[in-house]
Amino acid sequence: MSGGTGEGTRAVRAGLPDPVKYEPTLPGPVFAAHFHLPGEPTGPYTYGRDDNPTWTHLERAIGELEAPGEAVETVTFASGMAAISAVLFSQLKAGDAVVLPDDGYQALPLVREQLEAYGIEVRTAPTGGDAQLAVLAGARLLWIESPSNPGLDVCDIRRLVRAAHDAGALVAVDNTLATPLGQRPLDLGADFSVASDTKGMTGHGDILLGHVTCRDAERAAGVRRWRKVVGAIPGPMEAWLAHRSLATLQLRSERQCANAMALAEALGGRADVTGLRYPGLSTDPSHKIASQQMRRFGSVVSFVLPDREHAERFLDALRLVDDATSFGGVRSSAERRGRWGGDAVPEGFIRLSAGAEDEDDLVADVLRALDEAAR
Ligand SMILES: *Cc1c(COP(=O)(O)O)cnc(C)c1O
Repeated sequence: MSGGTGEGTRAVRAGLPDPVKYEPTLPGPVFAAHFHLPGEPTGPYTYGRDDNPTWTHLERAIGELEAPGEAVETVTFASGMAAISAVLFSQLKAGDAVVLPDDGYQALPLVREQLEAYGIEVRTAPTGGDAQLAVLAGARLLWIESPSNPGLDVCDIRRLVRAAHDAGALVAVDNTLATPLGQRPLDLGADFSVASDTKGMTGHGDILLGHVTCRDAERAAGVRRWRKVVGAIPGPMEAWLAHRSLATLQLRSERQCANAMALAEALGGRADVTGLRYPGLSTDPSHKIASQQMRRFGSVVSFVLPDREHAERFLDALRLVDDATSFGGVRSSAERRGRWGGDAVPEGFIRLSAGAEDEDDLVADVLRALDEAAR
């Protein structure tokens, strides 16, 4: 247990082992393909694909953030997609039906193809308006992504969970955008909280990682078994870097969410910006539901510039914001999402991730770049 009740305190102490004289506070990464194992091959540490002490510390830390004070199980993975696939492919079998969002992460259509190839029926509906409710009947699993990436729509997670459970379906929430400091899916009733920890959770844009947290030990065992079978395991170095990064999660989130809010407010005053979305804005269509289930609204803002060329001029003119994909890092980044294809967004659609720069510098850079792009 981390001790203390504040979330900043929890973040800096999450997953730390009890103090041992002359040992470091956070033990370093354990690089081991196998462990000394005389006699009967029982756990905890036998072979490096099954378990690793560095994962154990990180998994405890994430569990303390996902469900403070509760006994939960967390399984870490080599990437967010590995975590997502682990839930879907360990919980579903041929003949089952699954409901996915149709406006979620851009790799979900590939996942869909793979699920269908295994004889699983895939239904999709938009995140906004709780539209997934309409296609729930008979489904085995409901997959929610709220806020959705990149459109930033929000659904009423408690409402969808209630309906799904009444219909006999499990619920998983992709919580990447919010992080556990912004939203706790298990508290909202979900069976699985899943995330790409490549983004805000680790926040430095230097590692890929993912995790699944759930309360039910049997379901966790299924997810863990999948990791063993597929071998989508995190490297000890990545796991250790992630744990180290969690110590600043609250600090980073505080600054980045405040910067996102300031940017959203500044963008709201511009005639060249349309389709502005940020769940923290009181005028955003998602704000009411978001405020009922989120404690922070995330670091991502999205908006639309008049056309592709205008958007490209804007990205070129930015000095403090990298033209790069991904989000949630301490250095601000932005991209024209349409360059990838796949997302149903206008050509001038920009996804901007607020970093930890000083608010005044960041807002000034974005406004200056907009002025230059408008010329
Ligand atoms: C990035 C992302 C993923 C995939 O995570 P990786 O770590 O890149 O595998 C999944 N879901 C959402 C919402 C994401 O933003």
